[in-house]
Amino acid sequence: MAPSSSRTAALAAVAVEPRRTELREFPLPEIAPDAGLMRIEAAGVCGSDWPMYLNAKPGPRILGHEMIGTIERLGDIARARWGVNEGDVVALEEYLPCGHCEYCRTGEYRSCLETDTRLAGSVRYGSTPLAVAPALWGGYSQYLYMHPRTVVHRVPPGLKMHIAAMALPIGNGFQWAFLDGGAGPGKTVVVQGPGQQGLGCVIAAKTVGAELIIVSGLARDERRMQVARELGADHTIAVDQADLVAEVTRITGGRMADIVIDVSGAGPEIVNPSVALLRKRGVLLAAARKGAVPGFDINQVINRQVILRGTRGHSFGAVELALRTMASNRFPLERMSSHVVGLKDVDEALRMTGGETAERSIHITVAPWS
Ligand SMILES: [Zn+2]
Ligand SMILES: [Zn+2]
Repeated sequence: MAPSSSRTAALAAVAVEPRRTELREFPLPEIAPDAGLMRIEAAGVCGSDWPMYLNAKPGPRILGHEMIGTIERLGDIARARWGVNEGDVVALEEYLPCGHCEYCRTGEYRSCLETDTRLAGSVRYGSTPLAVAPALWGGYSQYLYMHPRTVVHRVPPGLKMHIAAMALPIGNGFQWAFLDGGAGPGKTVVVQGPGQQGLGCVIAAKTVGAELIIVSGLARDERRMQVARELGADHTIAVDQADLVAEVTRITGGRMADIVIDVSGAGPEIVNPSVALLRKRGVLLAAARKGAVPGFDINQVINRQVILRGTRGHSFGAVELALRTMASNRFPLERMSSHVVGLKDVDEALRMTGGETAERSIHITVAPWS
């Protein structure tokens, strides 16, 4: 293979229409003093890629927003601003925040107006169309354009690329279970949904010393439940085989949960029973969109004095916590990585993530040079 510095083009899987990507080659862009170019080593497939794969409206684009890579080219301003050099291995966030608003000043890039993709003209890794120059905005590609507002994390030495590619789902776990949910010593945490984000919550809850971790899912998720137990879940419950409220009552001796995190693919019918899992003054953390909830009982919220909190994404600090925990080798993270695929198999990986294949995935990494 020729040295990468001599390369002038990038191969990428472009989402051209619903349910179809096509391999295309792109010229590598000129890099301004405040920007950079990353050679992508691994990109994690996220559950949120699935709705984007089905939606062709923004125009053809390169999906993938959980990238690990080596900095290939760097402008002088970017080098000084980001504190990194060519050759460094970094993890990027999907956000391209303004950097100076009140939220950005506290690392809460997820709340910055610039990271809200519902606003016209906003850019973000893994969802910006090819029509916005220089086209290389997504992780399912050999190279990525590093925009001046890129958020860079150093990857600790020794972490394998397909493991480091879980920095964002595990970062979400730290954000939701610990920073937003308040998991800690003595706490009982129920995680609804054993996908990669739910497993990230298990890792975070275990790391911060939660007393009891219960994961719920469907019977067909047994492989994911098995991994949840290996990561530290004390109990796993298949909700299509057992009554979740009755089981949590039994396991906790009637004390119930301090924190319930909904990261499941279930519909709005899960919301009222989720409140019923909580002890008084417990926290229900809603991290999976449900739409309107028919029959939502606000009296239940008042009577039990529970806190209902919506959350999405991660802060800068949550991703740092994830990377340090991943480097500690305390968890069998290899068990979470169910597939590593090349660019030509991005369609298959996305369909698997969307639950359309017989084989169930946990975390899939796209390795664009394999
Ligand atoms: Zn994601
Ligand atoms: Zn901002």
